[in-house]
Amino acid sequence: MVEFICHICGYAGINQLPWGIDGKTPSFDVCACCGAEYGIDDLTKLGLLHYQAEWLSNGGKWFNQHEKPNKWDLIDQMRNISTIEKDYLPYYFTEKEEQGFYEDVRKMISLLSTKLHE
Ligand SMILES: [Zn+2]
Repeated sequence: MVEFICHICGYAGINQLPWGIDGKTPSFDVCACCGAEYGIDDLTKLGLLHYQAEWLSNGGKWFNQHEKPNKWDLIDQMRNISTIEKDYLPYYFTEKEEQGFYEDVRKMISLLSTKLHE
């Protein structure tokens, strides 16, 4: 089974690309980890970032506890986001915004690591 990566939480266990192969066709699936519904919670870039920040500030908890892997690390998982191909991000990202998105995720990860190791 091929697994895809959630661009909000980095979970690599979703069944299809959140926004399809063209980045324009949301699946409307709900991520088992962050609980985002693709095409709804990430309909705009602002919405996406807001959802992500909200999820993280609530502790980055699993939406569907039954699917939570035994050994799970939030930061390791968030790192997956940087491996997502640009083409698979939602269509509304400009090239510059794509770059910024990966950078924001990197910053978020280092912020999280500092927080968790305080
Ligand atoms: Zn997710």
